[in-house]
Amino acid sequence: MAKIKTLYFCQNCGHQSPKWLGRCPSCGEWNTLVEEVIQKDDKNEKGAWRISSSKQISSKPRSIADIKYNEEHRIITEDQELNRVLGGGIVPGSLVLIGGEPGIGKSTLMLQIALSLGEKKVLYVSGEESEQQIKMRAERIEKNKQSQCFILTETSTQNIFKQIEIFEPDLVIIDSIQTLQSSFIESGAGSVSQVRECTAELIKFAKESGTPVFLIGHITKEGSLAGPKVLEHMVDTVLQFEGDRHLVYRILRTIKNRFGSTSELGIYEMLGTGLREVSNPSEILISQREENLSGITIGSMLEGNRPLMIEIQSLVSPATYGTPQRSSTGFDAKRLNMLLAVLEKRGGYRLGVQDVFLNVAGGLKVEDPAIDLSVCTSIVSSYEDVFVPQNVCFAAEIGLGGEIRAVTRIDARISEAEKLGFKEIYISKYNTKGIDLNNFKIKIHAFSRLDDVFGKLFS
Ligand SMILES: [Zn+2]
Repeated sequence: MAKIKTLYFCQNCGHQSPKWLGRCPSCGEWNTLVEEVIQKDDKNEKGAWRISSSKQISSKPRSIADIKYNEEHRIITEDQELNRVLGGGIVPGSLVLIGGEPGIGKSTLMLQIALSLGEKKVLYVSGEESEQQIKMRAERIEKNKQSQCFILTETSTQNIFKQIEIFEPDLVIIDSIQTLQSSFIESGAGSVSQVRECTAELIKFAKESGTPVFLIGHITKEGSLAGPKVLEHMVDTVLQFEGDRHLVYRILRTIKNRFGSTSELGIYEMLGTGLREVSNPSEILISQREENLSGITIGSMLEGNRPLMIEIQSLVSPATYGTPQRSSTGFDAKRLNMLLAVLEKRGGYRLGVQDVFLNVAGGLKVEDPAIDLSVCTSIVSSYEDVFVPQNVCFAAEIGLGGEIRAVTRIDARISEAEKLGFKEIYISKYNTKGIDLNNFKIKIHAFSRLDDVFGKLFS
């Protein structure tokens, strides 16, 4: 047995160092370096994935004109939301990491996809649950009866590759990467070096065999569990499965994608029978209300290529104790403070002595600045206690001078608003160039100043 070799790994970013350091030089976090044994027990890598020499294609230089690229090779799943976040189906030989908090429904999503692939052979490797537990879940989902989904409860990568060689699956799902263990590494399952080694072995397998691999990885709210963060730069695609486990809606978000655009979004509803795709998310993001309430407005946001209409709620009330409270859910708190300052300075609203609570309905996080106008009108609507009609929506950014600024893809936003039955939309005057307003049935109000919008709505 060779001398035991150890290295120190940052549990946050995976940086390695031969000696212990108080602060990681790579990510700057304190106290994240942990010693791990990394001795490989076999130089020949016996048991690692290796393709038989007859199948191996040795690489040689090829002219870029001769390289054929075929979109058709992607595996198109029945799940339109997943297809979209992946950039149009599963790419052969790709490694996709699905990260998320425990209990959010990652296993359900993957099992559901495995069961819906028809004649494609899927190997579902689980180190988390027993065969019986997975069977029970599959019964609940009850998708395609002809599915070729096979369950393997195993954690050793060497044994998994043995089974893969015999079984020759079209798709491999690993649930989860934290349970895998490679015998080349001595540290325990779930440690940074173990997670990295197992992923490296799976990447080798995926690239050489052309079989796509999905990895499930758990992360906690604090990101304290080692693993997925470290893997983000190793894999081709990183999807994040988000949502409050107490809420019914789940969001599948692209964080990184070598084969498509990032910032794509898939929305699911968690039902007793599994996850249902929500193909028209605006319908669920806008609550159905009977009465008109002040402080509620509808704004347009763009997620990936898709315009969504989203409900903004705010509550403004006089601060009873000293410092007024500002609280924001789903919207950047700094941006909220900035908009409040603009309303105070340019609009003359005395918001400095008011508590302001802002909430984006549906548990979404909005980064699109086009939501600004909706946020501002929502706040003023609550402050003045005058409601905004339910068939009115907004799509514009607000500048520090109280000016209404243009946003990207305004035509797509207007079309979406029209499709959903809105009668009026407020946009920036600077957004009207290049679009034909007569193409739309919806009434378009184009303004350049915030005061003009408020004058029209609240006076
Ligand atoms: Zn680090």
